[in-house]
Amino acid sequence: MDLTFSDAEDAFRAECRAWLEANVPRGLPSGDTAEGFALHLDWERALFDSRWAVVSWPEAYGGRDATPMEWLIFEEEYYRAGGPQRVTQNGIFLLAPTVFAFGTQEQRDRILPRMAGAVDLWCQGWSEPNAGSDLAGIQSKAVRDESEGGWRLSGQKTWTTRGAFCTHLFGLFRSDPEAERHHGLTYFLVPLDAPGITVRGFGRLDGDEGFAEVFFDDVAVGDDAVLGEVGKGWSVAMATTSAERGLTLRSPGRFMATARRLVDLFGARGSHADPVIRDAVVRAWIDAEAYRWQTFQTVTRMTDGDNLGAESSLTKVFWSDLDVRLHEVALELLGADAEADVEGWAKGYQFALSGPIYAGTNEIQRNVIAERVLGLPRK
Ligand SMILES: Cc1cc2nc3c(=O)[nH]c(=O)nc-3n(C[C@H](O)[C@H](O)[C@H](O)COP(=O)(O)OP(=O)(O)OC[C@H]3O[C@@H](n4cnc5c(N)ncnc54)[C@H](O)[C@@H]3O)c2cc1C
Repeated sequence: MDLTFSDAEDAFRAECRAWLEANVPRGLPSGDTAEGFALHLDWERALFDSRWAVVSWPEAYGGRDATPMEWLIFEEEYYRAGGPQRVTQNGIFLLAPTVFAFGTQEQRDRILPRMAGAVDLWCQGWSEPNAGSDLAGIQSKAVRDESEGGWRLSGQKTWTTRGAFCTHLFGLFRSDPEAERHHGLTYFLVPLDAPGITVRGFGRLDGDEGFAEVFFDDVAVGDDAVLGEVGKGWSVAMATTSAERGLTLRSPGRFMATARRLVDLFGARGSHADPVIRDAVVRAWIDAEAYRWQTFQTVTRMTDGDNLGAESSLTKVFWSDLDVRLHEVALELLGADAEADVEGWAKGYQFALSGPIYAGTNEIQRNVIAERVLGLPRK
C-alpha cells in the first residue's frame, strides 16, 4: 500500500477544506428531533447543490466520481471542519451501496438522485419486536397479490431511526413462510405514505424523539419495490450490513475529530491530571489514528478487487468501542462539569453507548469473527 497522497488527492483535500470551512453550519440542534431534522436537511441540500453530498457517486446522480480514497479524504475534512452527523446517512451510506450492487437500472435512476438531493429520506426497517440480533427470525410478511399483481405487506418494525421524519423505508419481509429461515426473505423499498402504513415516533433514553415503530396493514406495493431477487433478501441485506459495519457508516474522520477535541480538552483541563488519564488520552488518540490507517489498507484492498465481507465485523467492534472510550476519558477529565454537558460530551457519551448495540450488537459481531473470520467451530 502506498502511504503518500497523490497531487490530485492533495488538491481534492484543499478544495473540500476551503468549501467546508466556509460553509459548515455551527451549532445545529440534534438531527434526531423534528425541528433539528428540518435544519439538518437544509444543510444536506446545500451540500448536494454544491455536489458535496455524495462525492463517490457518478456525476449523473449528483456526485463527483471520487475514488474511495478521495471519499475518505472528504470525510476527514467534513468532520475536521465540524460538520454534523448526516441525517440522510441510512440512505446514502447503507441503502445506496446496496442499490448500486443489486438495483436495476430503472431503480438506480429513480431512487439515487432523489436520495442524494435529500428529497426522498430513507430509514431502515429491519428490527422487529421479536427479531433484533436474530434477524432471520423476522415475521413481517410479504404475500403475492395474485389478482392485482405486486405484493401485500403486513407486520411491525421497530427501532426505526428517524422513521418519523423519513419518507421511505427499506425493509426485510418474509415472502416464503415454508422456506428455511434465511431463504424465504425479500428486500422491499416502500414509500411511507402508502395506504395501510402507520408510523409512530417514540423517544430515546437521551430524550430525542429519533425512533419510530412502523406498522404495515395489508400495504400494496409493486414488483418494482423489490430490491434484488425475490427470496434472496438475506444476501441483499448482508451487503447492507457490510456497509453499515465496515466502511461507509462510520468513517475514521468522525473519530479523529473526536480524538482531536479530546486532546484539546486535555490541554485546557488536564494539566494536573494524573498519568493514568494522560495515558488514556494518548491511547484513545492513537486508536483513532490506527483506525484511519487500517481503513486506508482496507480501501487499498477493495480497490484491488477484494471484498470486505465478514471482516467488517472486526471494524464495527473497533469503532464502536473506541467511541465509548473517547467519551469516557472526556468525562473523566470534566469531572462534575460533565453534568452540565460541556461541549456536548455527556450527550455524545449517551449516544456512544448505543454503538455496541446498533448495526448488530458487538456480541453478535464477535460470533461472526469467531466463526467466519477465524474459522472456529460454532459450538
Ligand atoms: C441507536 C440505535 C439505532 C437503531 N436503529 C435501527 C434502525 O434504524 N433500524 C432497525 O431495523 N434497527 C435499528 N436498531 C435496532 C438494532 O439493530 C437492535 O437493537 C440490535 O440488532 C439488537 O437487537 P435487540 O435490541 O432485539 O436485542 P436482542 O437481540 O434481544 O439482544 C439482547 C442481548 O442479547 C445478546 N445476544 C442476542 N443473541 C446473542 C447470541 N446469539 N450470542 C451472544 N449474545 C447474543 C445481544 O448481544 C444483546 O446484548 C437500532 C438500535 C439502536 C440502539
